[in-house]
Amino acid sequence: MSQSGGQNLRLVLFGPPGAGKGTQAHLLRDKLNLAHISSGDLFRNNLNNKTPLGLKAAEYMNQGQLVPDEVTIDIVLDKVLSLNSAEGFILDGFPRNRNQAEVLEKALTQRSRNIDKVVHIDVSQEELVRRLGGRYICRDCQAPHNINAMDSTQKDPKCEQCGGELYQREDDRSEAVQRRIQVYNDETVPVLDFYRERDLLLDVSGLNTVVNVYQDVLSGLGI
Ligand code: AMP
Repeated sequence: MSQSGGQNLRLVLFGPPGAGKGTQAHLLRDKLNLAHISSGDLFRNNLNNKTPLGLKAAEYMNQGQLVPDEVTIDIVLDKVLSLNSAEGFILDGFPRNRNQAEVLEKALTQRSRNIDKVVHIDVSQEELVRRLGGRYICRDCQAPHNINAMDSTQKDPKCEQCGGELYQREDDRSEAVQRRIQVYNDETVPVLDFYRERDLLLDVSGLNTVVNVYQDVLSGLGI
């Protein structure tokens, strides 16, 4: 592992949609002072700003499909490679297929960098469907919330972190959720083998509470 206390780590957060990657990424970013690079957030920000890239990505996202590699790889690698070599990062939602994993590895190796650990948050399929149906995101700070666990007397619940408006992502609606889980199983699961072969995988159960998952991740990273 690179540095004491986890600073400078280069991590990939891996897991199915709804496993809690976004929540853990926010916690780890703050604790370890890492840049958080979420491919999904990059696309959503582009969509909010109605850029051509955002509008193109939305065609795939709304159907629960992966955005093509020609679009995805450049915007994520631009962010990763814009960091200076002393800065650590958490990649959240990337890589999502074997080609992306290979291109990332090549780009980092060319700059004498590497991934330190791939944190795999594992959650059963039934639990994913339940969670994604209740997931609402803050429009302002992107923090994810579970509407099932929030105060049900509140008519119009707001973000617990910044008070922003909460909304349900188009791709968290039920048909898209089924498709995303299918795509995860078909295209993204093979990436686990890629990292297992390199002895980089840290498997953590995502069925525990947020705090317990977070603690398991930290202890698995030796922090
Ligand atoms: P996420 O917020 O990570 O669940 O991503 C939302 C959607 O953005 C996904 O369902 C895909 O349509 C798209 N997306 C995010 N990351 C990637 C990626 N690495 N490759 C292809 N599509 C992606």
